[in-house]
Amino acid sequence: MKAFAYIRPQSAEAAAAALADNDGALIKANGIDLLDRMKERVDEPNALVGLVDVEAFDSIEVEEDGGIRIGAGATLAQLAASQVVERFLPSLAYAAGHAASPQLRTRATVGGNLGQHTRCGYYRHKSFPCLKRGGDHCPVLKPGGVQDTAAIFGNGTCASASPSSLAPVFGSLDAVLTVRRGEATREVPFAEAWAEPKAGWASDLVFDREDLIESVHIPARAEPQRLGYEEVRQKAAFDWPLTACGVRLVAEGNTVKEARVWLGSVAPTPLRSEAAEKVLVGKSFTEARARAAGEAAVTGASPLPGNTYKVQLTKVVVRRALMQAWGRS
Ligand SMILES: Cc1cc2nc3c(=O)[nH]c(=O)nc-3n(C[C@H](O)[C@H](O)[C@H](O)COP(=O)(O)OP(=O)(O)OC[C@H]3O[C@@H](n4cnc5c(N)ncnc54)[C@H](O)[C@@H]3O)c2cc1C
Repeated sequence: MKAFAYIRPQSAEAAAAALADNDGALIKANGIDLLDRMKERVDEPNALVGLVDVEAFDSIEVEEDGGIRIGAGATLAQLAASQVVERFLPSLAYAAGHAASPQLRTRATVGGNLGQHTRCGYYRHKSFPCLKRGGDHCPVLKPGGVQDTAAIFGNGTCASASPSSLAPVFGSLDAVLTVRRGEATREVPFAEAWAEPKAGWASDLVFDREDLIESVHIPARAEPQRLGYEEVRQKAAFDWPLTACGVRLVAEGNTVKEARVWLGSVAPTPLRSEAAEKVLVGKSFTEARARAAGEAAVTGASPLPGNTYKVQLTKVVVRRALMQAWGRS
């Protein structure tokens, strides 16, 4: 690993200033993803701005209007153990509590989870070409490319799959990110936070090097929400999802009044499925309807020869997430 300076600011403002003052410096939360990339020499920053000392960066608070604000430094273990999250956002507690392994969950932060880079093996090894690292093509798409965990949507130029388990849940909750650059903060709707793959843009997020995610805000809701999350992974003990689905439903009697369906790990970014939502809204909820929503969710999928199995898995996780949500009020 290349030598680097390590800066440990005590506030978000100071962290933003350190990013501005140190050209090429990268944000380090707890380093699970970033340090791996540095060891692999995929990233070779001159400096890291560590967030470990930033005050109150891991808070989880219910706001006056009932919205919930989660600090970007909160760990997955904190989310899973939080009574607020368990009570009001059970799908988030479930996703956080099942991601990775117990040891990793005590370190992995929300900001780092959203900011983690793709697990694509070609991206992670500099001996291979990779579009995200500035190459002229994606080797996954070439004959003989390793495709089993790759994207089944939006994979025309780069077939990396978004790795985060939390992302489809935050999508389903219509989360809003508070992002700081220098002295200013801005609110970024979750759906606008993601970048389509392009040559040389390594991150899945639209944010640049100086953008610090401070918190994730879940808006207050007047009506009861029914929330679900399901995923399938290769290894039960610890692994990233092969496919995942976060859902939010609002019911009026037995009818679905509102639906949000977001998919994870099937496209280069988290993906909202409006096709699945359309199948649900205004209709009575049944298992057959949940199954039909699963079928609709894979409309437009373009699986590769090596990962057609992910289409069927995706139908299943959508149905299961919906059934889970409907069982919860
Ligand atoms: C074996 C294993 C299994 C895993 N399984 C899963 C899984 O099932 N599901 C899942 O979702 N994840 C999984 N992960 C990934 C893990 O959740 C992430 O690596 C972790 O959340 C990263 O958090 P961190 O705090 O260590 O981030 P870091 O490694 O410090 O940062 C990751 C990236 O995010 C950026 N970043 C960090 N914080 C911020 C911020 N506040 N603002 C802007 N950018 C920021 C950094 O610059 C960096 O690019 C797994 C990891 C391992 C090693």
